[in-house]
Amino acid sequence: MRIVVLAGGIGGARFLLGVRAWAENHHQVTAIVNTGDDLVIHGLRICPDLDSVMYTLGGGADPERGWGRRDESWVVKEELARYGAEPTWFGLGDRDIATHLIRTRMLAAGYPLSAVTEALCQRWKPGIRLLPMTDDRVETHVVTGGQAMHFQEWWVRHRASLPAERFVFVGADQAKPAAGVLDAIAEADLILIAPSNPVVSIGPILAISGIAEAVRGGNAPVIGFSPIIGDAPVRGMADRCLAALDVKVSAEGVGQMYGARSAGGLLDGWLVDSVDAETEVPGVTVLARPLWMTDEAETARMVADAVALAGLAS
Ligand code: GDP
Ligand code: CA
Repeated sequence: MRIVVLAGGIGGARFLLGVRAWAENHHQVTAIVNTGDDLVIHGLRICPDLDSVMYTLGGGADPERGWGRRDESWVVKEELARYGAEPTWFGLGDRDIATHLIRTRMLAAGYPLSAVTEALCQRWKPGIRLLPMTDDRVETHVVTGGQAMHFQEWWVRHRASLPAERFVFVGADQAKPAAGVLDAIAEADLILIAPSNPVVSIGPILAISGIAEAVRGGNAPVIGFSPIIGDAPVRGMADRCLAALDVKVSAEGVGQMYGARSAGGLLDGWLVDSVDAETEVPGVTVLARPLWMTDEAETARMVADAVALAGLAS
């Protein structure tokens, strides 16, 4: 079976561990990853979500921090601080910087991000195919107090404390899906939407012209996983993002935001946690099962539930 997963960073990475465990070596998995969080710092191109997925699946992620490399050191960061170099709010570790140096050099030499990602994955061997959503530049901006700022500045520097009026995916309408993205969707037997942030992780992917249309119009069943359990995100500040869109912070709110494929939305099935068993999304089959990604085996079980919900035999 060919499985395509739409994913953000840390939540997406944890979910993909489970997808890979479920698939073992019998099924092909392609992840289409958000790049709206990307930024250039000290001249280096950083792709936080791609790196979270690549390091996590490659066994190189820091388990406590959730982002960046394990066994990291911070000498470059300290030296930059001594120069008074801005910005200081985005931490880049020494090991991590090597990834960004290679990426930036390859991009400058003319390679598209999809090819750069493939090259980086030769080292990390994530066991699945990793694709950026686009090879073009797209940046998520947050409008707060009538002014736009880069998503990372809002999220990391201000800890999402400034009220968001709206999110703008700058460049998304001109951006094309990265090489391989539309083919992967067209050839998929199953499409999974990871329990990633629906607004700023899945939202930008769907904003690239052609991707949502391909998912909606394809033959593969589409099954989503709620990142909200009860009335709060499992981790992080997705509630602050949903508030800007006037979406209720619940499995039902997010499910209804994605909507039924039969009604011009995305979903055929919606996995919600057992505590959210009352969830109703018109036109969508809702299945309530524990959705805590506590370990790989438990996350693989969530994937098995989605496969069954889609009516596919494993
Ligand atoms: P980011 O790009 O690093 O912010 O990560 P993602 O967007 O991929 O994932 C963040 C989302 O994952 C958050 O909204 C969390 O609520 C959700 N999440 C994290 N852990 C779990 C979990 O164990 N279960 C579920 N259902 N959602 C989770
Ligand atoms: Ca992210």
